[in-house]
Amino acid sequence: MKRILLCCLAICCIFAFTACAPAAQTGESFAMDTIITQTVYAKNDSVIGQNNQILRDIENKMSKTIPTSDIGRMNAQNTQDVEISDDTAQVLKTCVEHAALTDGAFDPALGGLMAAWGFGTQNAHIPGEAELEGLLAHTDYNAISAGVNEDGKAFANAGGTQVDLGGAGKGYALDRLAQNLTDNGVSSAILSLGGSIYAVGTKPDGSAYKIGIRDPSGSENDYMATLELDGKFVSTSGTYERGFTQDGTYYSHILDPKTGYPVKNELASVTVICPSGILSDIYSTALFVMGPEKGIAFAHGQGVDALFLTNDKQMIATDGFAEKYGLSITNKDYHG
Ligand code: ADP
Ligand code: MG
Repeated sequence: MKRILLCCLAICCIFAFTACAPAAQTGESFAMDTIITQTVYAKNDSVIGQNNQILRDIENKMSKTIPTSDIGRMNAQNTQDVEISDDTAQVLKTCVEHAALTDGAFDPALGGLMAAWGFGTQNAHIPGEAELEGLLAHTDYNAISAGVNEDGKAFANAGGTQVDLGGAGKGYALDRLAQNLTDNGVSSAILSLGGSIYAVGTKPDGSAYKIGIRDPSGSENDYMATLELDGKFVSTSGTYERGFTQDGTYYSHILDPKTGYPVKNELASVTVICPSGILSDIYSTALFVMGPEKGIAFAHGQGVDALFLTNDKQMIATDGFAEKYGLSITNKDYHG
């Protein structure tokens, strides 16, 4: 009798759980120049729509190619103060602070250089030496200034540079989406914005969310390893994105702000995991520029988890990386 009762109780519990467990909602959209995929377990069926609205809002404030955005207006005004949104002010502040912290390996003032190289456009090409020299003179995050005027409104000044938040925007957007999930009481979701991913909780069957780390030598859907993510942000910067080949040489879209040229080191990609989306994005770019030796030392100093992949398929990771994230190598060509 007792056993039957227990059985009934168990069945009731399962029914109660499945009745309460929110259904999966999925969405695929395009914003910030990238494909966005979302899987969210939420009772409220408007969460994905809310997230898409947040993304559009961020793009309209921070895209350098939208003339009316905060960044579009800052770049057009060049050396004059421009009123900007609090969101853009916050991102600018984080970018400038981390430009200093990374000794300029990350520099949000390199919009002029990026435009000259024309990555991702029909006009991608190697700029002339004189053009690069001229642009380098206007590539310095120290020139960017920001503040709050008497009316309490945020303003900023590009200081003669061209601001480009391409190395931080997607990570910041993920921070905002993650906050919206929390606000909606969502405890299980996975969001992907190009090279930046956030996952929280577990799948309905209780298993962890697994993220694939792209194989830089393969095509878009090839992974060299998987890792488990819960409540953290992962960003990868790789040479395979948005680069171009001229005269037999490949030029990647990650620039060394000190030389004005694409970074040319032994790295194929850098993956960074940390509790902040914007920092995972900034650091993945910065560590790529620093290279593995300096980058690993820097990551250890900042308490950031990072995995570097070299062109000859060597993996270099910060201490305890594999254990912390259940790293599972799926392409055995990669070695430690
Ligand atoms: P993706 O945008 O493809 O996800 P990243 O996160 O690595 O890749 O960011 C690359 C973008 O960041 C470039 O498209 C450019 O806008 C900007 N960028 C490139 N090099 C740097 C750099 N050294 N510092 C700051 N931003 C950079
Ligand atoms: Mg980045």
